[in-house]
Order: sequence, then structure tokens, then C-alpha cells
Amino acid sequence: MISSSEKLLAQPVPSFARTLDRHGLGLSRGVTKTLQLNLGKLCNITCTHCHVNAGPGRKEIMTRETIDRVLDWIETHRPGTVDLTGGAPEMVPDFRYLVESIRRRAPGTHLMDRCNLVILNEPGYAWVGPFLREHEIEVVASMPCYSAENVNAQRGEGVFDRSIEALRELNALGYGRGDSRYPLQLVYNPGGDWLPPDQAGLEDDYKRELKKHFGITFDRLYAITNLPVSRFASWLRRNGSYDRYMELLVEAFNPQTVDALMCRDTISVSWRGEVYDCDFNQMLGLQWTDDGGTGLFLWDVDPSSTPGRPIATGSHCYGCTAGSGSSCGGAVLANDDA
Ligand code: SF4
Ligand code: SF4
Repeated sequence: MISSSEKLLAQPVPSFARTLDRHGLGLSRGVTKTLQLNLGKLCNITCTHCHVNAGPGRKEIMTRETIDRVLDWIETHRPGTVDLTGGAPEMVPDFRYLVESIRRRAPGTHLMDRCNLVILNEPGYAWVGPFLREHEIEVVASMPCYSAENVNAQRGEGVFDRSIEALRELNALGYGRGDSRYPLQLVYNPGGDWLPPDQAGLEDDYKRELKKHFGITFDRLYAITNLPVSRFASWLRRNGSYDRYMELLVEAFNPQTVDALMCRDTISVSWRGEVYDCDFNQMLGLQWTDDGGTGLFLWDVDPSSTPGRPIATGSHCYGCTAGSGSSCGGAVLANDDA
């Protein structure tokens, strides 16, 4: 059976479901450990690889009403980790309300902020760094290279210098210095249509170069594959490399990655509260439905009943299973948590 996401893709590729089947594998949910909240599409920059199509002109953000319903769910079901993403999640007006409420209503929750770094020095956002520290939020920060040229090409002119400034601020606040209260992870993604190199070797390179040239330290590097979704898919098509990239992903399929895919233990929630298996499925509109086909929202879901639920897959999933695999926590086969 061809899934709905495959219908969205221009080029026919081998069915991901059939590839799993051929290897004697299935893909269904396990116990939910992480609630990933995509707070919206508003962002202060516009990156070429963005799978959210985020940018300064976007209006879609989570409202206070939706946040309150999400908070009720978190207090009741207590996911171990709440992972805040976007867009730039800090630009959502109720970001601080959300964090402070989680700390009060669900103490002990591990909080993560997927941060683009440059929000720290955006006018009006000087509060971000100290606020993240105050609430002991793990920072997972985009830094696609340690060279200015590559970062600026992917994320916009001047973004590299502003990212360095933000990393220095985070280091000064105690982040990225091995203190478990203030972890700082950097995220690498390729600047084009190729797979990430070995994560451990790249982490060594980043640590050496950022320390040598800028005095910056961080804890771990996550190497993430660009998935052929949204703006990156359009970029591939414009460059005429969509088919070749899909071929690369399909050829690099690694069955060993499947057990550790993030969709097994993460619930992804949109700015409207809709539920998905992951952020990519969210961008492709593959919302969870009940048996009658009605779309589900977070407040419709009891996580104790979701283990065993099938995961919606499509051609884009080859991006998560290529080589060492890819997840929001980097290469799945090199991830201690996998
Ligand atoms: S990749 Fe991140 S920082 Fe870049 S436009 Fe998208 S949401 Fe914003
Ligand atoms: S895109 Fe990746 S995380 Fe999402 S459903 Fe497919 S394999 Fe799972």
C-alpha cells in the first residue's frame, strides 16, 4: 500500500513499508518518553534546509488556549522530556509562560529548547539566555558548520558571527562546560544533497576548531540528515538533484537503525495541538486519526494506550534510516540513548 506521504513526492521510490518488510522489520510505537511541541513556524531567519518552511513572516504559533490544554496533558501524563521546537520557539509570546508552568505543574520534567542561536542577540530577546539557564533547559542549537562561509550560505548573511556571539554568551552562562544542569548540544546538518559524515569524528573537528578560533566549548554534536521535506525538498528540485538524493538515501538504507528511530518513543504536536509521529510527518500532514478517520489532538490521546500503534511512513523516512541513521538526537547508531 502506498502511504499518503509517498503520493506527495514527485519521484517514485521503493515503498519504505515494503523495504522494512523485506528486512523482516516493522515500525510501531513503543512507550512514549518525549513530547515534542512544535510551537509554530515563526522564526527570525530563513534557512535553506528548513523542513518547517519557517520565517519572519509566518503567523502560525501556539496560542495560550492551546498551551493550557497541552499543560493539562503534561501534568496528567508526565512525559519524561518535553522538547520545544519551531520555528524559533522563544518567539512565541507564551514561551516563558509554558516553561514556568511546566516547571510548576510537572516538576522533574527534562526540558529541551531547539534554539537557532541568533535569537539570543535579536533585539528584544536578551532575556533568552538567562531564562534558559534559570530553568535549567537543555539547549540544542543549530550550527551547521564551524566555518562562516558554510553557515552564512545555509542560514543567511551574518548568521555565523551572531551564532558565535550567542555561543559565547551560553558558555558565560555555564552552558557547554560539562555541567549536567546546562547541557549545550550543537546540531550539524549537511549544506547540500549529501549524507552527514561520521558524527564522532565531526564532533572532534567542531570541538577543536571552535575552541581554537573562538574559545567556545560545547557538550555533544548531533549530525542530522536533511530530510526531503518542505523547503529542502523544494531546494533539491530547484537544483535538479531530488532524484539523485532519494537514490542516495534508498541505497544507504540501514536496517539496524530502525529499532532506535525517534518516532517509536516521541509524540510530535503541532501549534494547533494536532498529534503526529514526528516533526517530519507533521509537515507532511500525516496526523494521527481515530478508527473513523477523525484527526486526533493531544488531548484525545492517552499515551498508555499507544504502544503498538503503527507509525505512518513514507519515502521521507529513508532520511532517518540512511547510514548511521538520523533523529533529533543525531545519528541513531551513535546515540547513547538509542
Ligand atoms: S531551520 Fe530553524 S532557524 Fe532555520 S528557518 Fe527553520 S526553524 Fe528557523
Ligand atoms: S520521518 Fe523518521 S521519525 Fe518520522 S516516521 Fe519516518 S522514520 Fe520515523
